[in-house]
Amino acid sequence: MGLAVITHPDTCLSVLGINDLVYRLENLQKKKTSSLDQTELKNILTSLVKRLTEDEKKALQHRFSLPKFSDNILSKIPKQLNTSDLKWLIDFTKSSSQAQKACQICLEQCPIKDEKPIVFVSRKNADTGKDYLWPSVRKTCVGCGVCEEKCPTPVASIQITPRLKWSETQPER
Ligand code: SF4
Ligand code: SF4
Repeated sequence: MGLAVITHPDTCLSVLGINDLVYRLENLQKKKTSSLDQTELKNILTSLVKRLTEDEKKALQHRFSLPKFSDNILSKIPKQLNTSDLKWLIDFTKSSSQAQKACQICLEQCPIKDEKPIVFVSRKNADTGKDYLWPSVRKTCVGCGVCEEKCPTPVASIQITPRLKWSETQPER
């Protein structure tokens, strides 16, 4: 079994202080395709709905003229969302409590719940002086690869690398 390692800290959203849902919504907006990727949009909405406060849920309900907010809200939102819906969702997400939280998808999706393999450690950028959270991987990681698969950056910022045996870390004689 391998070990998860932050292989691309320069793209890691937690290091950059970017919320994963805002990032994914803006990526959809940047795509120059004639139609929006409805599946990705609904997937983002599914995650967003789970994270909203009660007041924020009401705002979403109002925007899409839904009579009542419920867990299956997505089934009641118009089937095809358009670019103005997307723009509204980006502004809404950016102004929500959600936007204050940088990406932690690797931790959230990790199947090991006891002795969590990923811990977010506070660090300071020496150049900018800004604080950020570094995803630190612990030895309880079993190398299952879920974090790499779910990481939202184009090339996963966290990847599975071979776990070296102790003997392999020793200098050759
Ligand atoms: S999933 Fe983890 S490694 Fe990937 S961008 Fe988010 S915090 Fe960084
Ligand atoms: S998801 Fe799997 S590979 Fe990633 S940190 Fe958790 S146990 Fe390790």
